Amino acid sequence: MPRISHRLGSIAESATMAISGRARELQAAGRDVVSYGAGEPDFPTPEHIVEAAVAACRDPRTHKYSAVAGLPELREAVAEVTARDSGLDVTPPQVLITNGGKQSVYQSFAALLDPGDEAIVPAPYWVTYPEAIRLAGGKPIPVSTDASQGFKVTVDQLEAVRTDRTKLLVFVSPSNPTGAVYDEAEMADIGRWAGEHGIWIVTDEIYQYLVYGDTTFASLPAVAPEVEDRWVVISGVSKTFAMTGWRVGWMIGPADVVKAAANLQSHLTSNVSNVGQRAALAALSGPMDAVWEMREAFDRRRRTMHRMLNEIPGVECIEPQGAFYCFPRFEDVLTRQIDGTRLADTLELGAFVLERAEVAIVPGEAFGAPGYARLSYALSDEDLVRGLERLGALLA
Ligand code: PLP
Repeated sequence: MPRISHRLGSIAESATMAISGRARELQAAGRDVVSYGAGEPDFPTPEHIVEAAVAACRDPRTHKYSAVAGLPELREAVAEVTARDSGLDVTPPQVLITNGGKQSVYQSFAALLDPGDEAIVPAPYWVTYPEAIRLAGGKPIPVSTDASQGFKVTVDQLEAVRTDRTKLLVFVSPSNPTGAVYDEAEMADIGRWAGEHGIWIVTDEIYQYLVYGDTTFASLPAVAPEVEDRWVVISGVSKTFAMTGWRVGWMIGPADVVKAAANLQSHLTSNVSNVGQRAALAALSGPMDAVWEMREAFDRRRRTMHRMLNEIPGVECIEPQGAFYCFPRFEDVLTRQIDGTRLADTLELGAFVLERAEVAIVPGEAFGAPGYARLSYALSDEDLVRGLERLGALLA
């Protein structure tokens, strides 16, 4: 009998976490590594949110267990903000507060998937989706998209992989890792297709506020009534409010699905830290100025990174519309020798640029998209430029 169960033994470490960890190790060893690996804002959490958490620490009510599904005020606030900004009419019992959006991702799949059920996952996908689907007993069915289609999946592609076992579609807009944002018409088409076949939509809206230029955010279930009540929204405060370390997210869906997920959570983690929940409440009910300031900085860096990447010979990058990632294509770089070395794939490219240019990027293999790589632009303007100059010099 194996020491580690088959179920957990087959899960790979998150590649984005691994690359950030390796970059941190090299930095600790004194190497001047510029890391584009992290999926988190480089800003501190806005002051009024931190103050609310400090006050919560001093309140003895915060020191105790609280309701598994979350503080009632926070569930209420999430429902209000979702109605206001996503156009979804939801009530507090439809909201479950979780340890980051990540816990919602797993719990949503666990609540919806039976063994053998298929979950369609458009690629490039966020690393966690296929692993969480497998962990929940389901079967991830990737569907490849590429830069020529703006990394957006079409109904024809979805229909081509649909079977009698298709239970749900994982949808994310704005996207990690590509920065793609679907428009309402594209969402409506997908929603109509899902509605027609009784397929659930698990839609990850964690980057909802990070859209740039003329691009606007829409929530798929709000623009596609055909989906009826077969949808789950995943979101949280991590990306919007620079709160990745606080671990507060949520899932929203039909009350029976949310209740099933809450039952699971009651045995896994119980309530989310009350201090974190109070901080999240302050974030949702306070001013958004700091969010718009961070967005402005991300937008500036997005434009710089997009321009500098396209200036590197053999690198092509479409302009991301949301989140904080560029997803350039490196296939042409792989066809020639770099510094006397011929690289077989983007995995080798990632290791090579880390060693030779001290630049950390995440190979596309991690997202089901070999030939590409993800670079986060959530780092300081100076570091961003410095690292890209080094990458450009190495790949010139
Ligand atoms: N969804 C997407 C697409 C993400 O990129 C992330 C974080 O990287 C999450 C969900 C989860 O974030 P958290 O668990 O910090 O709320």
